[in-house]
Amino acid sequence: MRGVVLHAPGDVRVEDRPDPRIEKPTDAIIRLAATCVCGSDLWPYRGIEAVDGASPMGHEYVGVVEEVGSQVRDILPGQFVVGSFFASDNSCEICRAGYQSRCVHAELMGAIGTQAQYARVPLADGTLVATSDVPTPDLVPSLLAASDVLGTGWFAAVAAEAGPGKTVAVVGDGAVGLLGVLAAHELGAERIIIFSRHGDRQQLAKEFGASDVIVERGDEGVARLKELTNGLGAHSTIEAVGTQESMMQAIRATRPGGHIGYVGVSHNVQLPGDEVFFSAVHLHGGPAPVRRFLPDLIARITSGAINPGKVFDLTLPLEQAADGYRAMDERRAIKTLLRP
Ligand SMILES: [Zn+2]
Repeated sequence: MRGVVLHAPGDVRVEDRPDPRIEKPTDAIIRLAATCVCGSDLWPYRGIEAVDGASPMGHEYVGVVEEVGSQVRDILPGQFVVGSFFASDNSCEICRAGYQSRCVHAELMGAIGTQAQYARVPLADGTLVATSDVPTPDLVPSLLAASDVLGTGWFAAVAAEAGPGKTVAVVGDGAVGLLGVLAAHELGAERIIIFSRHGDRQQLAKEFGASDVIVERGDEGVARLKELTNGLGAHSTIEAVGTQESMMQAIRATRPGGHIGYVGVSHNVQLPGDEVFFSAVHLHGGPAPVRRFLPDLIARITSGAINPGKVFDLTLPLEQAADGYRAMDERRAIKTLLRP
C-alpha cells in the first residue's frame, strides 16, 4: 500500500509500505476513506520534536472495515467506522470512567500511521464506532474531524465546563481551537471569545459561534479579555496550543474558580507554582478521550446539527501529502484532508 513517511524534519514522502495484517485476534483492518494532517504532526515536521528515523505518519482516520480478528464481536467487515488517536479497550476502569486515551491497554495510532490506504486498528471493539449506514460523501470530512480535532475541542470545552451562563475564552485558532468554539456553542455557552489574528480563522470561528475576537496576544490579550468581562476573566478557557505563552495566557485569562480545559500537546511548559496557586483555577486536560464523545458526535454530524468538516480548507490526494504538510506549516491551510 501507499503511505506517508517522515524521514527528517521537512522531509515527508509517500512511499510503499507493507500492507497491514491482523496481528492480534482483537485487531481490525480498515480501508481509509479519508485521513488528514494534524497540527501535532507539525511538531516533528518542524524539528521541534525529534524525528527518530523513518516514521509512518497519521493518527486520524475514518474508513470501511475490510477484515476483523477472531475475537472481534461488535465490529463487522463492510461497516463504516470512526476511531481516535489512541486505541482503547473501552472496558478497563480508566475507560469506564471516560478516560479512554489513558486506557491501561492504550496503543498510539500515530505509531501505526493512518496517512495511508489501509491501517490496522488494535482493540477494534473498544476503539471503533460504526455509523448506522455508510455515510454520504459530504459527511466524511466531518466524521474525520470527529476522529481527533472535534473530539479534542469537545473534551476541552467539557473540561473547561463550558455551558449556559458561561463566558468561554479560546486560546488557539487552529482546528482544535475553532472546534472548541463549536463545542462551547453546542454546549450552550453564553459568550465565546477567541484569540485570533487571522481573518479566515476569525470568520470560521464566528460561523461556529464565537461572539467576540481578540487580536492581541499574551498579557495584552489578557488585558483586553478582562475589559470584556468586567475585569474578572472568563469562566471557562480552552487552551489549544501547548506552549508556555499559551498556557500562561489561558491561566491569566481565567477568573478565580474558573476552569481551564488544556488540550494543546505540552511542549516544554513550566508552570510557576506560586502563580498557579494564587490563580485558584481548575486545570483539567491532557490527551482527549475522544472515544467518550464519538457516539454523540457522530449522531450530531449525521443529523446535520453540526458541520465540523469546514475546518478542512485543503483537500489533496494522499500522493500529495508533502504539499499538505507544507501548506499547514506555512499557515496557508488550517487543516489538510488527504484522500487515499
Ligand atoms: Zn481501557
